[in-house]
Amino acid sequence: MQPRAVVEGTQDPQTIFDTVLEHCGVKADKNATFLVGERHRYIPNSEGGARHKLGAIENHRVKRVFFLGVDGSTVLLGIQIHPNDTEGYADLRRTVNHVDATDMQLLATCAGLASWHDNGAFCARCGARTQYSAGGWERQCLGCARIEYPRTDPSVIVAIHDDEDRLLVAHNAMWRPHYASLVAGFMEMGEAPEQAVQRETLEEVGLEVDRIEYVASQAWPFPRSLMLGYQARVVDGTSVEPVVDGVELDWARFYSRAEYEQAMRAGEVEAPGPISIARAMVRRWYGGPLPDEQ
Ligand SMILES: [Zn+2]
Repeated sequence: MQPRAVVEGTQDPQTIFDTVLEHCGVKADKNATFLVGERHRYIPNSEGGARHKLGAIENHRVKRVFFLGVDGSTVLLGIQIHPNDTEGYADLRRTVNHVDATDMQLLATCAGLASWHDNGAFCARCGARTQYSAGGWERQCLGCARIEYPRTDPSVIVAIHDDEDRLLVAHNAMWRPHYASLVAGFMEMGEAPEQAVQRETLEEVGLEVDRIEYVASQAWPFPRSLMLGYQARVVDGTSVEPVVDGVELDWARFYSRAEYEQAMRAGEVEAPGPISIARAMVRRWYGGPLPDEQ
C-alpha cells in the first residue's frame, strides 16, 4: 500500500494545508487557526485565549495536527505537541474565563484525539502498524487496510438524593483530601444508562435508587469518556446510610444545602472542578453558584 501523506512529525505549513485538503477536502491557508490542547492543559495566546495564528507554535514542537472544523472562513486545526514539551502550557481549569465553550470543546477534542493516536499505533485485528488518516479522524492499518475510528466510553454520573432532597457526595481514596464529587462509573457492555446508575450506586455506596431521570451530558475526552448525568432518589423504605468499600471510596455522605455550604466554607469539602459536569450538577441542586464561586 502506498503510504498517504501524514501530518505526524515536524511539518511545514504547506504540508499541513495539503494534507487537510487531501484528507478533508478543506482548503486551509495562512489564516488557519491553531489550538493546542493536551489533557487539562492548553497553550494560551497573549490574551489568554486558545486560538493561535500560524507560526505561533514552532514546527519542531508539533507532533500531530488535527482538522477540527471550519468557523466562518477560518479553518480550525488542533495541534498536539511532543510529550515532555510543557513550555507555555496553562491549566484549563484555572483559566476558564479566557476560553469560551466552543474553544473548550475544540481543546477537549484535540486532547482526546491526541490520546487516541498515541494508543493506536497497531491494528487491533492484525497487529500491523497503523497510520494517521482523514485529518486525524481515522487510523488506517498498513497490513489489512482496516480503518479504526476514535471511540468514546459512556459513563454515568449521578446526583443521588434522599427524601429530604439532600445530595450525596463521595471521596475517592485517590483524590486529594476533602475533594468530593458525585458517584460515577463506566457503563458495562449490554447495559442501559439507567441500569448503570443503579449498579454503580449499589456498588459504590450500597444504596438502592429509583426515580432515575436524565439531566445533562458532557464529553470528557481525558482520555475518552462521555459523561451521562442523571439524578436518582433512594428507594422508599430502604437504607439512606451510604456504605463505602474503603478501597475505591473512603467516605460518602448526604448534605443538606445548608450543611454543604457550611462544610465548603469550613474547608471540609471541596467541590468538583469548574469545567466538570459534576460541578454543574451540584450547582443545579444547590440552586446557584457554589460558595467558592461567590
Ligand atoms: Zn490490520
